[in-house]
Amino acid sequence: MQDQYGRTIDYIRISVTDRCNLRCVYCMPEEGIQPVDHDEILTFDEILRLCRIFVSLGIHKVKLTGGEPLVRRGLTQLIRGIRDIPGITSVTMTTNGILLKEQLPQLYAAGIQGINVSLDTRKEQQFADITRRSGLSHALEGIEEGLRYPNIRMKINCVPLAGINDDQWVDLAGMAEEKPLDVRFIEMMPIGLGRAYPGEKQEMIFAALQKAYGAAEMADGSFGNGPSTYVQFPGFVGKVGFISAISHKFCSGCNRVRLTSEGELKPCLQYAGGLQVRDLLRGNASDEILKKSIEETIYKKPKSHHFNEKEEPGFEQKEMSRIGG
Ligand code: SAM
Ligand code: SF4
Repeated sequence: MQDQYGRTIDYIRISVTDRCNLRCVYCMPEEGIQPVDHDEILTFDEILRLCRIFVSLGIHKVKLTGGEPLVRRGLTQLIRGIRDIPGITSVTMTTNGILLKEQLPQLYAAGIQGINVSLDTRKEQQFADITRRSGLSHALEGIEEGLRYPNIRMKINCVPLAGINDDQWVDLAGMAEEKPLDVRFIEMMPIGLGRAYPGEKQEMIFAALQKAYGAAEMADGSFGNGPSTYVQFPGFVGKVGFISAISHKFCSGCNRVRLTSEGELKPCLQYAGGLQVRDLLRGNASDEILKKSIEETIYKKPKSHHFNEKEEPGFEQKEMSRIGG
């Protein structure tokens, strides 16, 4: 469907849990968040019902997220269910990779088409400092294992943290030199704890990468669900991408909405107060009512974020782990 500004909305990020097995400093507080009661989280049947409605509105690409999606029991059941909905063209997920290796056979069998692994460093101590947990080797093994499945498109997502993982950007991008995966740098957004962590401009990172790997060319075509700018370094198997929502605002081409694990449909990351779909679902709303409410909410999607401006009362205050990134 199109929103009020003529943008085609065809992609949804669905968070399946607010829980996580890591505590990334820019995403979750050290003590974790007060977990939401299980019965406040959308059930798989509820998510599947919503997905059928989303598809009828033209939203046919789904990314599962969290918290950490792989800690939600039975996730593969949900993946299979979404894949089976006529009209769905893509079911992918983003994970920290800790539980990936052991779950890959089931994820593959369920039909997952792409896996993004969030990885901010390949240095053990830095990983522990950023995530406040150990487990780097599990994440790396998960990535290697994923590459054994040619039908699963693998991507690495790194959030550059100025003064924290600067020494890793070149190294992380280098993973695309020999491996068939893309490495993307995702600019820090001032949401939740991320407000306290300065990001780094893509130009700075790109310059460092060109110094290390030579002059890159802009890569043609669209490689995912969103607004990444991709470049190709000489001799690299995979591509390197930049997703810079603040310094290279892409709101005019935004194609996405979000559904939190508690059932809030968010048309824009920055604004609080989306549609409480869970209340409608549990208040026995018909499919027709649900569809109409969802359509109206998406239609009114705000024109753009205002991350560079002063905080306003309507801005989102939740941590990223409760939204899904
Ligand atoms: N646990 C999974 C993971 O880490 O991929 C899924 C959820 S996590 C919230 C999704 C993505 O959001 C991760 O890549 C994480 O680095 C990113 N993220 C968290 N807070 C962010 C922020 N303030 N700005 C930009 N990206 C952020
Ligand atoms: Fe967990 Fe992902 Fe947030 Fe890290 S970024 S704390 S892995 S939800």
